[in-house]
Amino acid sequence: MNARCITELTLIFGKDHILTELEDMIAYSYDAAHVEVLPEVVVFARTTEQISQLMRLAYREKIPVTPRGQGSGLSGGSVPLQRGIVLVMDRMNSILDFDPANRLITVEAGLTTSEIDRTAVSTGLFYPPDPGSVSFSTIGGNVAENAGGLRGLKYGVTKDYVKMLEIVLPKGDIVRLGNRCVKHVAGLNAESLFVGSEGILGIITTVTLALLPIPEHRESALAIFDTLENAAQAVADIIAAGVTPSTMEFMDNTTIKAIQNFKDCGLPRDAEAVLLIETDGEFHSAQAEMARVEAQVKKNSARQFNRARDAEERDRLFEGRRVALNALASVKPNLILEDATVVRSRLPEMVRGIIDIAARYRIMVGIFGHAGDGNLHPTFLIDMKDREEMVRTESAVKELFQLAIDLGGTISGEHGIGIEKKPFLENQLGEASMNLLRDIKRTLDPENLLNPGKIFDMPAIY
Ligand SMILES: Cc1cc2nc3c(=O)[nH]c(=O)nc-3n(C[C@H](O)[C@H](O)[C@H](O)COP(=O)(O)OP(=O)(O)OC[C@H]3O[C@@H](n4cnc5c(N)ncnc54)[C@H](O)[C@@H]3O)c2cc1C
Repeated sequence: MNARCITELTLIFGKDHILTELEDMIAYSYDAAHVEVLPEVVVFARTTEQISQLMRLAYREKIPVTPRGQGSGLSGGSVPLQRGIVLVMDRMNSILDFDPANRLITVEAGLTTSEIDRTAVSTGLFYPPDPGSVSFSTIGGNVAENAGGLRGLKYGVTKDYVKMLEIVLPKGDIVRLGNRCVKHVAGLNAESLFVGSEGILGIITTVTLALLPIPEHRESALAIFDTLENAAQAVADIIAAGVTPSTMEFMDNTTIKAIQNFKDCGLPRDAEAVLLIETDGEFHSAQAEMARVEAQVKKNSARQFNRARDAEERDRLFEGRRVALNALASVKPNLILEDATVVRSRLPEMVRGIIDIAARYRIMVGIFGHAGDGNLHPTFLIDMKDREEMVRTESAVKELFQLAIDLGGTISGEHGIGIEKKPFLENQLGEASMNLLRDIKRTLDPENLLNPGKIFDMPAIY
């Protein structure tokens, strides 16, 4: 990038909010996936207007720009594939408006998700989407990935809470989409287009979110199984029985052992699988729902059904689930974490399929995830330096995606397509849908400068 552009960027952002030294680029060259590309410049935005000026400059000079929250993404979304500028959002982290009476909060996109919840909780409200990364990921990153979480089963995912977005479009225009009202049908539902857009259509600068009242009571329990299939069938049966727990998380034996070795969270090392289940609501209804859950779990031959005796015991179990990924990461040098998702009734087939694939390709796998959402995280534990194992892993991943599609599911439930899943997207969506996505991108970003190379490739000339 030429010196004139760097001078102009310094004028826009200020000298304390720009990095240009090579060694400073390393921290912004990767996320929680496997691709690394060094940017040429990193800038830290503090205002929407700065981002608008940045995009006008980028368009004039034809420089790629990659938005970045905290870089916790699991699909390579914030990696600057074509170098250029990384735009870091985490210094735009203010709460702009908190309106408990209307159960709304408006924040800058770089605010950490857990800060939103902390603010809401102070007045008896809460922000339901709680990804495992809630304490470090940004709300802008959550919106861009349509992040899910442990409470997704009952409360939905990020898209269910986005009321308004302020967005800088690729050519620098600033738009405000959505409305604070409960209902709103004036114009297209355009804000939804940007939820899950992985930073390729616009830069989210502020977000207005809906909040909910904190439920009066929570009941938590750990169901312990001797077979994976029984645990998966219990999930399907609980849903089919009309019960909607707020949380229903699955962990297999590899994951349980990894967690216990990482941190003692009170999980049974000898169980083939556990389900961490929570019901919430008014005291009696939460209790009654948990009783119905227990009946289904026992019907599926659970060895034990242990209700958490107090908040401390509950927090310990949930802590186990939250550290699952870090724990699995300590088992082998590398891991490949997927998030293929199916409808809940197909979960037993999905679990069987994952075990079969891992066995055939002789790869160690840990399975955990948001089972109540049909969203498992089969995690292949590997050593990327072992070329032969990598070849086997690539074939296994391919089969895994095909399995999800064959079962009527999706190749990503929450982590997004990013870089590595790009080759598999057309198989799920078909050619006509891919053309529509490309047309939308082309309309908003005719030069393909905003986060190029993510979700799908654009033809060289378009
Ligand atoms: C331990 C761990 C647990 C996790 N658990 C979950 C989970 O339970 N559920 C889940 O869904 N995900 C989970 N994730 C994945 C990740 O945390 C989420 O995808 C999160 O939403 C990413 O937020 P971020 O701020 O780190 O964004 P980044 O990783 O920096 O960016 C993610 C994508 O969003 C784009 N982006 C970021 N900010 C903006 C913005 N302001 N405007 C436009 N585009 C933007 C980037 O370009 C990129 O494409 C987990 C990750 C880890 C490491």
